[in-house]
Amino acid sequence: MPPSETSKQLESVLHETRVFPPPPDFVARARMRAEDHARLTAEAARDNVGYWAARAREELHWFKPFTRVLDDSKAPNYRWFTDGELNASYNCIDVHLAQRGNKTAIVFESEPGDVRRLTYAELAAEVGRFANGLKALGVAPGDRVVIYMPMVPEAVVAIQACARIGATHSVVFGGFSAKSLRDRIEDAAARVVITADGGRRAGKLVDLKGATDEALAEGCGSIARVVVMKHAGNDVRMKAGRDAWWSDVVKGQSTECVPLPVPSEHPLFLLYTSGSTGKPKGIQHSTGGYLLHAKLTAQWIFDLRDDDVFWCTADVGWVTGHSYVAYGPLAAGATIVMYEGAPVHPDAGRFWSICQRHGVTIFYTAPTAIRALMKFGDEIPAQYDLSKIRLLGTVGEPINPEAWIWYHEVIGRKRCPIVDTWWQTETGAAMISPIPGAIPAKPGSCTKPIPGIDAAIVDEEGDEVTDPNRGGSLVIRKPWPSMLRTIWGDNQRYIDTYWARYGNRYYVAGDTAHRDADGYFWVMGRSDDVLKVSGHRLGTMEVESAFVAHPRVAEAAVVGRSHDIKGEAIFAYVVLRGARPTGTEAERLAVELRDFVGKELGAIAKPDDIRFADNLPKTRSGKIMRRLLRNIARGEEITADVSTLENPAILDQLRGKA
Ligand code: ATP
Ligand code: MG
Repeated sequence: MPPSETSKQLESVLHETRVFPPPPDFVARARMRAEDHARLTAEAARDNVGYWAARAREELHWFKPFTRVLDDSKAPNYRWFTDGELNASYNCIDVHLAQRGNKTAIVFESEPGDVRRLTYAELAAEVGRFANGLKALGVAPGDRVVIYMPMVPEAVVAIQACARIGATHSVVFGGFSAKSLRDRIEDAAARVVITADGGRRAGKLVDLKGATDEALAEGCGSIARVVVMKHAGNDVRMKAGRDAWWSDVVKGQSTECVPLPVPSEHPLFLLYTSGSTGKPKGIQHSTGGYLLHAKLTAQWIFDLRDDDVFWCTADVGWVTGHSYVAYGPLAAGATIVMYEGAPVHPDAGRFWSICQRHGVTIFYTAPTAIRALMKFGDEIPAQYDLSKIRLLGTVGEPINPEAWIWYHEVIGRKRCPIVDTWWQTETGAAMISPIPGAIPAKPGSCTKPIPGIDAAIVDEEGDEVTDPNRGGSLVIRKPWPSMLRTIWGDNQRYIDTYWARYGNRYYVAGDTAHRDADGYFWVMGRSDDVLKVSGHRLGTMEVESAFVAHPRVAEAAVVGRSHDIKGEAIFAYVVLRGARPTGTEAERLAVELRDFVGKELGAIAKPDDIRFADNLPKTRSGKIMRRLLRNIARGEEITADVSTLENPAILDQLRGKA
């Protein structure tokens, strides 16, 4: 690409120049400041393995201390702390009982609005009883247990109880269909399913037990027992000999269950990725390495202090709900909020009302939620007292600068740092993120790797890209403790997916990114989604950000379709603030937006097609289903799984037929 055109293109990517240094009053009380960050980064650069060993000794309680740190004899199947033994549940619960037994561990709010609180001592008792109940059902160390539950404290109790007895849990998001559940049960060869009668979402009943019965109706021969928690109160059919009520499973059980010391590499859980790029992969995590990074990042990135109320809105069905609901903050001894329902139920003020009523101090959500709430206008959050919030976070997708600024101004009231945390199911915990008291933020950038993580951008040959005007593939060059260990049942797929591209030298994240002159990372989207227009590579994120910079645009998704001359042309789906235009108004606005994007990014990025819709199709984790949009843009048959679309009627609009 000629240099002039490259710089024109990249001006857009890096044309965000605003810098938000940590506020001085935040720094004054921060757990980690710039000098600590620099010291730890230097320590890790000198001796990466020794650095992680030191952290693992400081942060975790080991029943048997490890003497071996990194075993790379079977690389890229790396193993950490191999001769050490610990228990994750002990590290999340028991370690707090002496000091914080009466501290609230979980504040739970159901969708209809009931509130329940559990102290650490109560959580310990619930976990102990349920762990004993699972043992009585015959669950043994290493057995896989599928957890298919609503977002209720019992989901965390079930996770912790599995960890306590050495069972490997696999949480399946409660919004998934019976078929998705069956696929995951079969892939994991799970022995037990833990579910509920039902959950509540947007005022509707989610029939979890019905879906479980349907999943188990065919195949799933490994399942011996089903535990059903009574929650929604709907009628369910219990199958004799197989199904047991949660309340019966714990009846008569002691609240004390001795935690089982397991080797550090013992599989703590399997979690299937959200599947936005293909068949879900059963990501397998270890105990020691995973827990270390989940706890460290909870403390560092969320700056957790004893008086904080931390709300990560992610469902326990996603990795974010594992690392920043069920494990990390509990290991750090924090108070967490759990909310069962939809963000806009009964109205768009629900999130802010929860923040106000429970005194949330740290709020962590996804860009898709931020953009959705932004669409309802500033008046709604303005009605709530959000003065206790001191830190905001985002995860899941690149956040466009417009949404970042809105979050900062309207929710954070310009006082709060924002941590944009880049990570994946595979990485176990956050990898690239500002540490809020140490690293100045730039809207749209996840900033710098956390100390100990060696992230880089490489070109097609695997050479590092240092020119801030060029993008490339995001890789991690050194193994880290919370990395996935394998893809369950398919180690070859693990190697092919994450390592083979550069001869097993680097972990390949599958995202494209740029790194600016300050060493900040800017994730531009998935490598598979990169647009190639007239020979220029454009990230979906940069084009979408340009759209959203227009005052009328709430959200946009772009995909490529083939074009005789340009190779690929940009096809954009746009959701506006306010009503969807039709007829000549739609045509006029399409012209205006095309010019607007052209001005922002250069003529090369002008979309050929713009289609307006009321919503975009999302996966259950709230990510745009680009595969579906691509199918439509290219006039292909739909190959994406649309069974989980929240609003199937949207398909006709996306096709331009409504
Ligand atoms: P699958 O791998 O099955 O397609 P998925 O990648 O959507 O599913 P996750 O592991 O939940 O499943 O998502 C990780 C991906 O989300 C990252 O690879 C990246 O593309 C995106 N992502 C997460 N956080 C950020 C962030 N802060 N900035 C930019 N992108 C992010
Ligand atoms: Mg992925």
